[in-house]
Amino acid sequence: MNRYLTEEHLRFREQVRDFAREYVEPVAREADHASAFPWETVRRMGEMGLLGVPVPEEYGGLGRDYMTYILTVEELAKFDASTAITVSAHTTLGSGPILQFGNEEQKRAYLPHLATGVVLGGFGLTEPDAGSDAGGTRTRAVREGDDWRINGSKIFITHAGVGEVFTVTAVTDPEAGTKGISSFIVTKPTVDVETAGAIGIGHRPESISYIDGVRSGKKEDKMGWRASDTRELLLEDALVPGENLLGPEGRGFINFMQTLDAGRIGIAGLSLGLAEGAFDSAVRYTSGTAKGSKTLYDDQQVQFALAEMATDIEAGRHLTYHAAWLKDQGLPFSKEAAMAKLFCSELAMRATLRAIQVMGPAGYTDAYPVERHARDAKICEIGEGTSEVQKLVIARHVLKEALESEPPRPVLAGAGA
Ligand SMILES: Cc1cc2nc3c(=O)[nH]c(=O)nc-3n(C[C@H](O)[C@H](O)[C@H](O)COP(=O)(O)OP(=O)(O)OC[C@H]3O[C@@H](n4cnc5c(N)ncnc54)[C@H](O)[C@@H]3O)c2cc1C
Repeated sequence: MNRYLTEEHLRFREQVRDFAREYVEPVAREADHASAFPWETVRRMGEMGLLGVPVPEEYGGLGRDYMTYILTVEELAKFDASTAITVSAHTTLGSGPILQFGNEEQKRAYLPHLATGVVLGGFGLTEPDAGSDAGGTRTRAVREGDDWRINGSKIFITHAGVGEVFTVTAVTDPEAGTKGISSFIVTKPTVDVETAGAIGIGHRPESISYIDGVRSGKKEDKMGWRASDTRELLLEDALVPGENLLGPEGRGFINFMQTLDAGRIGIAGLSLGLAEGAFDSAVRYTSGTAKGSKTLYDDQQVQFALAEMATDIEAGRHLTYHAAWLKDQGLPFSKEAAMAKLFCSELAMRATLRAIQVMGPAGYTDAYPVERHARDAKICEIGEGTSEVQKLVIARHVLKEALESEPPRPVLAGAGA
């Protein structure tokens, strides 16, 4: 499907695919088993520019469009979703808010390190009382002279352990509801100082000034995305310099909502990649496995299953590329991003389980990547807004559109077919 893709997009995608085949695929299974963060792959991705695809060149990125970034995440996810989410969380959640809402000083201070993968970044919104209800933030920031004293705990934060630069939300005015939430850049050293030192990336004490009282907590032992780092991010009496306020005071909620809109296209791309990876495995396995004098693929039931999967995947590709295209055109994309995320995350679940089904017991073992793909797919229906939250977002948009296009009028009973 090339309606949305230029020759340049296709060439870039090819490069990412070659990279993933050479460096990601061979280590994915082991990293998943060991729940080990793939530092070596991260170093290579940093060198290739994959950790700053949509970041302008003046801030150390590749300066490519959002579509190129989505293709990157999609392509990586075909081979390993943990690697793909490392790129996605770092780019849209780590660098994204600083790029979109930061002032020039903040951009120059952090983006060159993030975009080249010298340090990893993340985003802290979720708390025990805040996630789906993003306005439920309890983390509190209190002015202290020019600075802010911040206390709170963020949970399930991607890169909270390995990363060094984060944007977090905190309540600056408890009386003002969501308009009393602000966002701040906070920093801490990576937990893997030794590995980062040996590999040569991940820790930059000479460039990043770490804030006392910011640290990571317990590492999660997860069903999927096992090689991605997920932990608590704790703010304990952290004195955050006034210059780390990101955007105007009270704009944190809106900033985060916009960050998540963009992030959702990334999760749609990641989900799409998972579905495509599972589909490829299923086609190769069934066409290469003998069943009597024929192959599994010769069974019409298998062909029907694969035909339906291919159709489902094509629909997801249209939704995802369309949302990315809208963003690249500077057009509103919030509804389309939610639709792409909702559809593709559920597609990833359907496609990975179906791939296991057509492959039979082989698909259920770790001899093939589909069982890992299925475990990796589930979180796509939860992270960066659950499926239910996407439906709320879509419903809000479609109602608004309906009321704007035509004033409300009574629906006549019996006016149906
Ligand atoms: C591996 C992983 C990585 C993550 N990375 C990050 C990160 O980097 N940064 C970050 O900030 N967060 C991160 N998260 C958190 C994640 O984004 C949230 O857990 C997710 O958005 C769900 O929010 P919640 O925790 O409030 O869940 P809940 O809202 O408590 O979800 C429980 C259930 O309630 C449903 N529900 C809640 N409200 C409604 C409603 N109004 N209507 C209908 N149903 C509803 C949900 O859909 C869900 O089914 C991560 C989570 C995981 C597991």
